[in-house]
Amino acid sequence: MERRDFFKSGVLGAAGLALASAPLAALSSCTKKPRYNTELKLSFQEGTAIGETLEEKFDYMESLGIVGFEPGGQRLVNDFDKIQNALQGRNIKVSAICAGFKGFILAEDSQKELFDTTMREIVAAAGAIGSTGVIMVPAFNGQQPCLPHTQATRDYLCEELAKLGEFALENNTSIILEPLNRRECFYLRLVADAAAICRDTNCKGVKCMGDFWHMQEETSDYAAFMAAGKEYLQHVHIASRGCRAMPGEDGEEDNYVEGFRALNELGYDKYVSFECGCIGNKAEAVPAAVALLRDQWALAQK
Ligand code: MG
Repeated sequence: MERRDFFKSGVLGAAGLALASAPLAALSSCTKKPRYNTELKLSFQEGTAIGETLEEKFDYMESLGIVGFEPGGQRLVNDFDKIQNALQGRNIKVSAICAGFKGFILAEDSQKELFDTTMREIVAAAGAIGSTGVIMVPAFNGQQPCLPHTQATRDYLCEELAKLGEFALENNTSIILEPLNRRECFYLRLVADAAAICRDTNCKGVKCMGDFWHMQEETSDYAAFMAAGKEYLQHVHIASRGCRAMPGEDGEEDNYVEGFRALNELGYDKYVSFECGCIGNKAEAVPAAVALLRDQWALAQK
């Protein structure tokens, strides 16, 4: 197609013509990003909170203003009533559910059926407790026998995810695809790729997330979250960026401001959940990490 025909034929042509004739003041107002007073909703996995029992952990989380709890899938299924009771009357809700299923979705053998059964059991429990979704990875590097990394496999993945996503929707929750770094999951490394898979499933029950630790794969935290957008971004994991400890334990490296800026501009209203270890004294490192993230969130809102 000739360039002139291309501009005549499409929306891009109309937009281009409008831009060409727009006054300068209107153009500069187009570039201004909307401001949100988005709340930072922090969540802990069970191992992050200090305390022996669930009650002690939730008391500790409440003392720090933590509003989300991310249990593992098996823990949720096994101790559903216990978790539900311990959350009664608290300002803490279950955020996402961290995996916990057996098998994997791209397995070539009976591990696929095992995945289907155990994943659906976790999804049903996740919906019943009001969780945003269940986190999953299509296949870790070491999982075998695995379907080859081909176009046909990607099509199959989208079809299978769509079925699972429909089941999640029926249960008022979602499936959350988590991209990892190349050492753990070569198959899915980028938030934008996970979002593209969500789009191609054409199912509103299939979502994705970003994990600041694995986002070492990204060229830009900001661009990664913006590519997923509010439509697909359902959860965020956070850790220090050098050795996956408490945010702040890797010093200057632990800068989340650009990622937080994207979350603010999107009006992201889900959770930022700790998935990390701790190098130092937890009693000091955990409150310091929470304070650091709140400071950086405030910086991102400026
Ligand atoms: Mg993670």
